[in-house]
Amino acid sequence: MKAIRVKQLRQGTPSIALETVDDPVISHPQEVIVKVLAVGLDGTDKEILQEKYGIPPQGEDDLTTGHESLGVVAEAGRESGFQPGDLVTAIVRRPCRNQSCVNCRNGHSDYCQTGEFVERGIKGAHGFLSEFYKEDGRYLVQVPSELLEHGVLVEPQSIVEKVWDQVLRVQQRLIWEPKAALILGSGPLGLLAAITCRVLGLDVYVWSRSPQDSLQAQLVKDCGGVYQPAEDGGISLTAYAEGLGKPLDLILECTGFSPLAFEAMSVLAPNGVLALLGVTPADRKLEISSDMLNQSMVLENKCVIGSVNAARKDFETAIYRLQQMEKMYPGWLYRLVTNRMKLDAVPQLDFASIPIKAVVDIVPVEQWRELVKQTNEVEYSFSV
Ligand SMILES: [Zn+2]
Repeated sequence: MKAIRVKQLRQGTPSIALETVDDPVISHPQEVIVKVLAVGLDGTDKEILQEKYGIPPQGEDDLTTGHESLGVVAEAGRESGFQPGDLVTAIVRRPCRNQSCVNCRNGHSDYCQTGEFVERGIKGAHGFLSEFYKEDGRYLVQVPSELLEHGVLVEPQSIVEKVWDQVLRVQQRLIWEPKAALILGSGPLGLLAAITCRVLGLDVYVWSRSPQDSLQAQLVKDCGGVYQPAEDGGISLTAYAEGLGKPLDLILECTGFSPLAFEAMSVLAPNGVLALLGVTPADRKLEISSDMLNQSMVLENKCVIGSVNAARKDFETAIYRLQQMEKMYPGWLYRLVTNRMKLDAVPQLDFASIPIKAVVDIVPVEQWRELVKQTNEVEYSFSV
């Protein structure tokens, strides 16, 4: 089968290539072979493909990339719980093997304490940018066929669902009736966060570097949000927040530009939550008004949380939420995916040319429906 591989990662002169590799073969009754329909690319893939920062599986030099997947079960082991034709996505992180890691031992590898976890397509395990992959049924999530067109967004949306779930848990500390959310950044994560907050009934403000006439700004407006450019005629975060003149109960920092994390602490409403979702690989230093920030955090009960990765239930809530989005704002999710390409175009991909989100179609979209068993009977328990 064909796969996109970052080659010679351990040798110091990595390259990206479309390679022919062995087809996966079931070796355990719990395993499943998945035929990949599509894989979404995000900032992590950009770093792996450009900065070559991925880590190949133990004993290997090459890494198959890609972690936002949508596929259809081609072959199912008898104890896998799946059937051929099931539409699935895969959880990205696999638990560490350290017996003292209580979170990995309890199905929460997104809270792994040892850092010895494995992530498919990122750290220590091959990803999904290939024609097929093999996976233990425990790490697959069934996607209803009615979400076929947007199923590749389940993984990125799971990141938003995890943080919303965490915010709700934290805010059980008080009576919290949030009215307004501020999103920093208008990449795929920021935009998914914005429409999620709209679906949740919040007033949404997005402050970001994209210009006012950009598709990003239009998407914010088209889901009922307010867009504010950050530079070149725009205004600083502090000035913007003060000008709004209303409490910002929830701030989601999706840019990874670390100085914004501290600026956001000062504009957060009393009793509010600031969630940090982004990182950039840099080593910035910053002089901050530490007394002022400390005072406002303490005297106004403010909370800052970091959030990474997602658990199975977050994937399941993401499936529910994407369906809600499509009902409330039909067509919006289609416009989020600005670039579609074939597998053989990935080695030449210029990430700078992607306005918002790229998806690699391993199977042409028009062939998807005939491969998928029609079922809308997937039921999940979820937190909304
Ligand atoms: Zn662990």
